[in-house]
Amino acid sequence: MKKEKQKELIDKYPKFFERIGPIGFHCRDGWFNILDEILGCIYKYCEDNKHSPIYGKSIIDNEFVFPSITTIKEKFGSLDIYTDSSDELIRGMIAVASYLSRKTCEFCGRKINVGRTHGPWIYTVCEVCREKEPRVKELEWTPSTDQYFD
Ligand SMILES: [Zn+2]
Repeated sequence: MKKEKQKELIDKYPKFFERIGPIGFHCRDGWFNILDEILGCIYKYCEDNKHSPIYGKSIIDNEFVFPSITTIKEKFGSLDIYTDSSDELIRGMIAVASYLSRKTCEFCGRKINVGRTHGPWIYTVCEVCREKEPRVKELEWTPSTDQYFD
């Protein structure tokens, strides 16, 4: 993901990154909106549940500590987000992000005519971007059967 896009998310959701520092987002720009929505959702949830014991407290001053996001990456054509602490709801939100990413072009963010390539590299890519990317075009591609319709 482009540095300025990464910075936008880190600046918007700083508490996810304050303990471990900014991380690299190892996915393409097409998934920016999914990340923005899901990070926003988790952020709000954490803000609203500051007194829950699930997030732990800092040892020094017993203040609430947000979970840190340790990794954001593309893996087998879908989006993966790792945190150092979570609960069932956070894991559910992350699962939604992965689900959405499998139907969203990782290059441009389109949700129409999206499909996935088959090994050795799995890309989630729309028909338009597939034509533009030589390394993607040569791979076998099957349309997603579970499309979004705008
Ligand atoms: Zn595309």
